[in-house]
Amino acid sequence: MQNISFVPQTAERVAAVLAQLKDYLGEKVSTNHAVREAHSRGEALDLACLPAAVVFAETTQDVSTVLALCHGAYVPVVAFGAGTSVEGHVTPPAHALSLDLSRMTSVLQVNAADMDCRVQAGLTRQDLNTRLRDTGLFFPVDPGGEATLGGMCATRASGTAAVHYGTMKENVLGLTVVMANGEIIKTGGRVRKSSTGYDLTSLFVGSEGTLGIITEIQLRLHGIPEQLSAAICQFENLEDAVRTAVEVIQAGVPIARVELMDDVQMAASIRYSGLDELRPLTTLFFEFAGAPASVREQVDVTQMLARDNNGLGFAWADTPDERNRLWKARHNAFWAVKALRPGARVISTDCIVPISRLAELIVGVKADIEASGLQAAILGHVGDGNFHTLIMTDDSPEGYEKALELDRRIVARALGLEGSCSGEHGVGLGKLEFLEREHGEASLGVMRTLKVAMDPRNILNPGKLLPEGLAYIG
Ligand SMILES: Cc1cc2nc3c(=O)[nH]c(=O)nc-3n(C[C@H](O)[C@H](O)[C@H](O)COP(=O)(O)OP(=O)(O)OC[C@H]3O[C@@H](n4cnc5c(N)ncnc54)[C@H](O)[C@@H]3O)c2cc1C
Repeated sequence: MQNISFVPQTAERVAAVLAQLKDYLGEKVSTNHAVREAHSRGEALDLACLPAAVVFAETTQDVSTVLALCHGAYVPVVAFGAGTSVEGHVTPPAHALSLDLSRMTSVLQVNAADMDCRVQAGLTRQDLNTRLRDTGLFFPVDPGGEATLGGMCATRASGTAAVHYGTMKENVLGLTVVMANGEIIKTGGRVRKSSTGYDLTSLFVGSEGTLGIITEIQLRLHGIPEQLSAAICQFENLEDAVRTAVEVIQAGVPIARVELMDDVQMAASIRYSGLDELRPLTTLFFEFAGAPASVREQVDVTQMLARDNNGLGFAWADTPDERNRLWKARHNAFWAVKALRPGARVISTDCIVPISRLAELIVGVKADIEASGLQAAILGHVGDGNFHTLIMTDDSPEGYEKALELDRRIVARALGLEGSCSGEHGVGLGKLEFLEREHGEASLGVMRTLKVAMDPRNILNPGKLLPEGLAYIG
């Protein structure tokens, strides 16, 4: 097993690199305080540290220049997309540069006949879909924030549509990546499958900026379905709602989305998003997609299962405006909970279990929340077995520690049910403490060996994803 080594950084060494970078990249390098502050942290986790400077890359060559210089001087670099990650992923260590990719927004190719495209890493998924509008194609992976596609690759993101279309893992065909020493490589390609060599694309997807910096992405696209239908069903009992979602998946219904919000989340969302026609009860949001006959069949089976599990009837949202309103409310769930208690901190869990264990986990988590005396909402992508607990706490160290205790209890439950501590948010700093329990020391040893081989000077987002890096954080 290889150990990751650390070379202490000094302000002098970083200043020397910055002077060189300004020569090469001019106004793309910023030491403005407000700009550094905006790159000092992501969402949710309060850990922050000012980067020494922010570099706004516009080309793959810019990224290569930055990494070659930083590699030479042992200066850490943290890639920054939109900063919407929630586990402290983008919080820089001391004397680090933040490398912002958000100016790299070109769509380089759209191959409509093959249903794929190549984009620069700073493009957001929303902008990609706007630019695809006239093609009849779309990109389905939809994390809640205005995330960049590079950031989504790096966190192996998913969202409400993953139950049908898969996550970033299934939708990335190839990448252009700049390695720690500035070398530029291409992985994968345009074909749907290949059995040649190690799968480097999959290695970089989910690597959180610790193995290389992604500058271009070849993505799978999907046809816009002929018909879309959305419905909501409310339940007096949380377990009945979970059982309905699980049975829909087990029955093989090719559902486009199935999302759950519990009574606490619904109360928050009714207030925040004006869903006044609904009651603060556990609610399932469904979306059905496909040819009209298939949609009708999916609806019939789902409605029957909901009725058998004491669902309180289906309410339809068939116009695009109504559907958008519902899904916007779902995507704004985090902000709705934040608005419930202004000034409170909100910690999000992200557990996932095999779907047959989901009801057991959610019911146990609800009991844990009650026993903790804390206020928390449950919502999630139940069709995948993945859900979030948004734990609200006051902004005191004791309150925060109590929330972390509840977080740990929930993760322990999920791991005990053969699950994972994170289905989609990733590790960052927030989930580091669970990795050994989830993967085992031997597997972590292999991950460290890969890290050392690909980033021998540990300049790429040091301290994230692998527990041993923590000592580096300044
Ligand atoms: C309200 C809300 C709802 C959310 N809902 C979901 C959800 O449903 N599903 C989900 O998966 N996530 C969700 N997220 C989390 C977040 O949106 C995702 O993690 C997203 O993928 C992060 O993208 P970003 O562009 O903001 O990346 P950033 O936060 O900027 O970066 C994330 C990580 O990727 C690295 N990185 C960024 N760009 C690159 C690059 N080009 N090359 C290499 N590394 C890079 C960074 O160094 C960092 O480690 C949500 C967040 C919020 C605030």
